[in-house]
Amino acid sequence: MARTLIQWPASTVEALRQVRDDPRQVLNTSLARLADAKGIEKASLHFVASRAYASLILHHKALEQAEQGLQQLDHDAQPWLYAYLQLAKAEAQKGLGQAREAESAVSDALRWARHNKTYDLLAYALSVAGYTNLTLSETDKALDRFQEGYRLTENKNLLLAPADFSGMIALVYESRNEPELAIPYFEKARAYYEQHNRRLELANTLFGLGRSYVKLNQQQKGLELLVQSARLAIDIRDIQGAAYSYQEISQALIERGQLDEAQAYLIDALRLFKQAQNPFQQIGVLLTQAKIKLIQGKAKAAMTHLEGAAELAEGDAFLPHRVQINKLKAEILAFEERYEEAYGLLLTMLADDRRLQNEQNSQRLVKLQTAFETEQQRAQNALLREQNLRQKAELANERRQRGYTAIVITLLAVICLLLLWQHRISKKHQKKYETLANKDSLTGLLTRRKTLEDTAQQLSLAHRHQDYLTLAVLDLDHFKQINDTYGHQAGDDILKGFAALASRSFRGTDILGRIGGEEFLFVFPHTPVDDAYRLLERFGELVKGVPVRVGREEISLSVSVGLVSGKQSEDTAQLMNLADEALYVAKEAGRDCIRVSGQAVDRTP
Ligand code: GH3
Ligand code: MG
Ligand code: MG
Repeated sequence: MARTLIQWPASTVEALRQVRDDPRQVLNTSLARLADAKGIEKASLHFVASRAYASLILHHKALEQAEQGLQQLDHDAQPWLYAYLQLAKAEAQKGLGQAREAESAVSDALRWARHNKTYDLLAYALSVAGYTNLTLSETDKALDRFQEGYRLTENKNLLLAPADFSGMIALVYESRNEPELAIPYFEKARAYYEQHNRRLELANTLFGLGRSYVKLNQQQKGLELLVQSARLAIDIRDIQGAAYSYQEISQALIERGQLDEAQAYLIDALRLFKQAQNPFQQIGVLLTQAKIKLIQGKAKAAMTHLEGAAELAEGDAFLPHRVQINKLKAEILAFEERYEEAYGLLLTMLADDRRLQNEQNSQRLVKLQTAFETEQQRAQNALLREQNLRQKAELANERRQRGYTAIVITLLAVICLLLLWQHRISKKHQKKYETLANKDSLTGLLTRRKTLEDTAQQLSLAHRHQDYLTLAVLDLDHFKQINDTYGHQAGDDILKGFAALASRSFRGTDILGRIGGEEFLFVFPHTPVDDAYRLLERFGELVKGVPVRVGREEISLSVSVGLVSGKQSEDTAQLMNLADEALYVAKEAGRDCIRVSGQAVDRTP
């Protein structure tokens, strides 16, 4: 189905309005259109037809139409329309004396309408619910429903008006035998229906109003209203409406002793009820006719009416009617002095009456049982609701706890990250400080302390692995003179240049350190003395070859070297002394040369 209906299309609104004025007219057009209609449209037409039949008190047909409408629908796809048809069905069931069967569908529709705030549906549901209660003699509940409907329609412009609920409230008071309370409500409805041309509704209201006045012993006024009601009903071909009015009129006439006039109305009423195939009311009329005949002393004629009634009263549904028929029959027999037959009939009647009483009692018991079960259900629901609430609270608590845990974990993680970060930074700083501490600030070579440390380490390794290691002490020649001639800054620049040249000339694994002003200690691991000798020789040439520029002048720089093999000693200080001695020898030899401690040149390990 294409769309979900939640309000009536304009054409249906119009049809529903017309139902309340001229239901037969609506029936003709709806039934004609039903032949070609499909789906939602078809279901809607069935609803309208059902309402029209219900208005004409043709409940079987109303039920048939509602059920056919429901067959067109899927509840889930069309919940709104479905609820409407359920209510139409309930209305028909109520009319057929099956109000109990209708109850649950009515409360479903009520709940749906309330929950979805569809007020037209809610108003209609309240009316059907109230009528159902009324049929079941639950007048308090009926009053509640109708009053709620009244308040609802007062504030909103809906299909049903407050005046409609006014008429319904009047029916409750009427059924409670409180005509003086019913009359003002009927009057309100009457004024509204007159103003809005709702002939059917007006006929029904005039009927109720007339009955109420008759009950209040205002016979004349009551009769006039009932006659008006009957005329209106005939006008719109509401056959049963007219028949009911005739029945009431005859009742009023009987009370006034106008038996023949009453009889004439009853004959019409019987004809109309027969036409409408309403056996219940036919029986009612026949009983009244029999009573009149009995009053007139026409026992045979009375009996004929009763036989007619008895023929109609077949089956369990007619038990109360049969009781009445038999009671009246017994009266007639007694009147004819046929006491024995009358007695036998009375016995049958009493047995039937007891059965009826029992049935009514058991119905009452069922009602009590239902009420008890409802109460129990309510208590259980309350318990479930309470459990539900507690569960919810527990869940919320758990969620909160989990929330706290998550926060704590997050905080801990953040703290850990911060600590890690700080640790890394401090490590980095430490490394930086270490580098700073280990590096000579002027030349970038190792400091004296670091040089001696590394040298001792390499020396011990060389001794453990019986590896070569050569240690060289270098001293720049005549440096004091350079300083004196060109200034201390020039001296510093030359020291930097010398260090840079050394860094470029030797391997990364060699130890290059500045151990004094212009004194250096170079240590060559895995290197025999004569290899170191050659390396330093080449380096000395390089030093001399790279011109040192001071201002505009170029100075030639030379270096003297004292060499010693690591094999000479395992002690760095001792080796340093030996190297110093060799250096001294080199200086003595005229500088710019290399001397090896202990021998000329060390060639074998
Ligand atoms: P020799 O050839 O005998 O080594 O002569 P020398 O002048 O180099 O000898 P000496 O050891 O007497 O003088 C070293 C000079 O080096 C003293 C000082 O002026 C200079 N010197 C020491 N450290 C630095 C320094 O850091 N910067 C500068 N510019 N000069 C320094
Ligand atoms: Mg020196
Ligand atoms: Mg020197």
